[in-house]
Amino acid sequence: MGDPRRALPAVERVLTDLQGLPHGLLVQCAREALEDARRRLTEDPAAPVGTAEVVADARRRVEGLRSGLLRPVLNATGVLVHTNLGRAPLGDDALDAAARVGGAYSNLEYRVGTGERGSRHEHAGALLARACGAEAGIAVNNNAAAVLLALAALARDREVIVSRGELVEIGGGFRVPEIMAESGTRLVEVGTTNRTRLADYTGARRAETALILKVHASNYRMIGFTESTPVSELAGLGPPVMVDVGSGLLDDTTPWLDQRPSWLHDEPGVRQALEAGAALVTFSGDKLLGGPQAGVVLGRADLVATVARHPLARAVRADKLTLAALQAVALAYLDGDATRIPLWRMATASLDELAARAERTAAGIDGAKVVDTQAVAGGGSLPGLTIPSVGVALDTPAPDELLAALRRRDVVARVESDAVLCDLRTVDPRDDERLRDALAAATMSR
Ligand SMILES: *Cc1c(COP(=O)(O)O)cnc(C)c1O
Repeated sequence: MGDPRRALPAVERVLTDLQGLPHGLLVQCAREALEDARRRLTEDPAAPVGTAEVVADARRRVEGLRSGLLRPVLNATGVLVHTNLGRAPLGDDALDAAARVGGAYSNLEYRVGTGERGSRHEHAGALLARACGAEAGIAVNNNAAAVLLALAALARDREVIVSRGELVEIGGGFRVPEIMAESGTRLVEVGTTNRTRLADYTGARRAETALILKVHASNYRMIGFTESTPVSELAGLGPPVMVDVGSGLLDDTTPWLDQRPSWLHDEPGVRQALEAGAALVTFSGDKLLGGPQAGVVLGRADLVATVARHPLARAVRADKLTLAALQAVALAYLDGDATRIPLWRMATASLDELAARAERTAAGIDGAKVVDTQAVAGGGSLPGLTIPSVGVALDTPAPDELLAALRRRDVVARVESDAVLCDLRTVDPRDDERLRDALAAATMSR
């Protein structure tokens, strides 16, 4: 008997059975499968490894690579700002703007009128400032970067006063004390976890105080014997007050909607923080603002200019695609037109409309029924912001299996009370047909 490794197929032979990826990747998959087969035969010459097994292994590798490619999925979880699913989807105008600016040269840092060098902050940043009544604004990579940059630029080697109730961790990895340490500022904690009064801040204020920082505790809520000091009271103390509002709700009266949604509760608005006397406000672009990933710094012109000049600003700057999309979002707000922002379209869709879509989606699908649900605003933020919604529930003895069958069709749903639930609020109506097809196929395939 000869060496069984000699019986293995050539790379070219395996390749004839592979498709769906660039040739170079298929070759790598074929080589990896062959190497693995050779290794197994070296360990055990009697191992059942032939051409069919190598081809099957190579195909699995191709499928593994293909399924990892970045692509759209259908969010039927009911979580509007789902961090793992890319947070806010962009509207057509924002996408068009990104495509037009990204597919050409642009006036990103160039003033066409005079032929002078311009600044990338003259577009989206300046418009968002106007939308909130701020003197100036800039946009950077994300809100974590905005906070880091602002602290580094305004308070390095100096003191920043923060309430112990606001030393929070948000999402995976944004921890206020750590960001402050990275920025080179000295954290001065005041008050207690549940109560911090004006006198606590007054007592900590010194010549070394560069800023008072307030952080919206986005992802948790304290109830009971609590007290915090509003921006309006802190604004009179002397040092500039910087507020990290997080979600990017531009105005808590939501003038871009017919009616303020009650589920917003007391979510703070950027405009209101500025009106209360905040010198600087930071927030995310892709949470309740409904735009691309970005961090926005708005406020006093002198402070914003200092932030923009800091060397770190270069390291965290936003790209032209982001700035183009963000500009479109700012223009939509300035137009008072929330229908151009998918996040607000989805958040405010009426229950009747959702119910009608759910009926059409559930019709004819085994074990499917229309149910009332609660959607939520978002992925590790805005706790307690539940939005009444409607979904399709699928009764099944094995919810996790059905969930997996839906995922294989790029539909992400959730399990609730032992049923698989697809919340219609986070599904674009243009995708209803796709959702229906996926439900039909997944319920039949099990
Ligand atoms: C979400 C959030 C952040 C982090 O923002 P990213 O844009 O994800 O970097 C920081 N602070 C607050 C209060 C937040 O809610």
